[in-house]
Amino acid sequence: MASAVEILAQADPKGAKRAVAAKAGGKIVDLSAEVDPKDGLEPVLPGSPEALDVLRHSTAHIMAEAVRELFPGVKVAIGPSIENGFYYDFDYERSFTPEDLPAIEEKMAQIVKDNLPFACRREPKATAREYFGEHGEIYKVELIDALDDDEVSIYQQGGFVDLCRGPHLPATGKVGAFKLLSVAGAYWRGDEKNRMLSRIYGTAFFDRKELKRHLQLLEEAKKRDHRKLGRELELFSFHEELGAGMVVWHPRGALLRYLIEEFERQEHLKRGYHLVGGPQILRREMWERSGHFDHYRENMYFTEVEGNAYGIKPMNCLAHMLIYKSKLRSYRDLPLRYFELGLVHRHEKSGVLHGLTRVRAFTQDDAHILCRPDQVGDEILGVMQFVTDVMGIFGFDYHLELSTRPEKSIGTDEDWERATEALTASLEISGREYDINEGDGAFYGPKIDVKIKDALGREWQCATIQCDFTLPERFDLTYVSPEGNQERPVMLHRVILGSIERFIGVLIEHFAGAFPVWLAPEQVRVLTVTERADEWAGEVHALLRAAGIRADADLRNEKLGAKIREAQLMKVPYMLILGDKEVEDRVVTARLRSGKNLEPMKVDDFAAQVASESQPGRG
Ligand SMILES: [Zn+2]
Ligand SMILES: [Zn+2]
Repeated sequence: MASAVEILAQADPKGAKRAVAAKAGGKIVDLSAEVDPKDGLEPVLPGSPEALDVLRHSTAHIMAEAVRELFPGVKVAIGPSIENGFYYDFDYERSFTPEDLPAIEEKMAQIVKDNLPFACRREPKATAREYFGEHGEIYKVELIDALDDDEVSIYQQGGFVDLCRGPHLPATGKVGAFKLLSVAGAYWRGDEKNRMLSRIYGTAFFDRKELKRHLQLLEEAKKRDHRKLGRELELFSFHEELGAGMVVWHPRGALLRYLIEEFERQEHLKRGYHLVGGPQILRREMWERSGHFDHYRENMYFTEVEGNAYGIKPMNCLAHMLIYKSKLRSYRDLPLRYFELGLVHRHEKSGVLHGLTRVRAFTQDDAHILCRPDQVGDEILGVMQFVTDVMGIFGFDYHLELSTRPEKSIGTDEDWERATEALTASLEISGREYDINEGDGAFYGPKIDVKIKDALGREWQCATIQCDFTLPERFDLTYVSPEGNQERPVMLHRVILGSIERFIGVLIEHFAGAFPVWLAPEQVRVLTVTERADEWAGEVHALLRAAGIRADADLRNEKLGAKIREAQLMKVPYMLILGDKEVEDRVVTARLRSGKNLEPMKVDDFAAQVASESQPGRG
């Protein structure tokens, strides 16, 4: 046995110097860890996601040390690395505020400069418990009590001692660039029955330039925040008094939804889907039979009617199965594709709710395809093509992931294998690259997840395709084979956009609220220079409306500049500026939201241009 860094240095002294940790037998360990060379050792180098993880988690320790020095009496809870950064939770006599952050950063910079080693030691549980108990670290004591091992690992840099599994950087000096970003309240262990702690978020990079780029991206994301734009563009609102995580759609938002939903109905009808619909609440026995009651109950809402228990639907599958079962099906009838814009309710903890992207009530563009086993491959490929078409129209790039069997699941091993094989085979035929997400499937089947990339390079979960042999079994769905036997169909659950609410949230941020013409709730605003143009404006407005264009008119006795500014703030694609010249020539002069002006033209020509851009994906 020797330390990881010693073994790495024998093979590649330069690489060992650059390494921030090591990978031994697939596990990330400290460079100082004693390892068996037979485990197949590799360096973890800056530039890899693993290295960034180690860096950020180590920076969380540095932040905790700084906070401890600046705020005596503070208790520390946990400090993991997360996507894009890290946090640490603290318990102090008051909540931390953004004003506290510069002093903490300054102290952290000193700790980085001191280049203190992160030293690891193993200690008997009792010794560690006593140490943290004496120092009033009640959260560490609670964590130690929850551990099964006899020994725990303790890390120390400078005077800061922490209970941690590691791994960490060899020393604090390896931190290249960091920034503290925000503060928030967070319940200990995420449980609202526990004490509220004060969380500080930060991020860290090996390189200053990368940090700068990341901060610029955050700044841009803040400007595009769909919660802020949703309010400014009068699309939707949330109300505590109504219920957390429930969206209220205002006229412009409801119109945007209508446009997307109508587009979806048309696209589904083109591809041989049938429109169907089920009720909002279904008897509890149905959920017991489907397995939702045993495996999904904590995410569901229940109610009672005339002594019968009902579950509010978190998924749309069950009614669709009853439609299938309503008559005898022959092999010739398959595949059957049922589509519903189905409103579902799922319980999400209040702490994770976030604008439109994490809500408790949302609408899925949900379909269930019932087909023969020999049709599964073609059906999955058909859905994948559907996803490609729709994402092309919205202008999103995407990537695919295959999610496999989770711990909590129903169905036989054989069914899971068949379903996973069906999805894998279709992915291979499609020729697209994909990642594997172990254990992230639905409880009734594996799935293909589609993640779209927005204008800022962020990924969002969108379409999913799930293959399910279990529900048809549980609900005894059958079809008559050519030989006259009763056979089981296979069920595919699939969504294309996923949650309409979430998708709209993503669209708002992707376009920064400036929707393309085909999605803009208000496509044209007619503006008058003086009241002499009112009559002509009324005619133009009526003509555009008659041509199916979403136009409004602003005839108020306001300065033109103010009217333009307002239309600009609402990100209306076209403003028609009507003055004396336009009245006299019976034409319109269009101004784009970019500030560019078009040549005066006839109303019919303008209407034809907007109508052509109103085709999905055109403008
Ligand atoms: Zn740690
Ligand atoms: Zn379903």
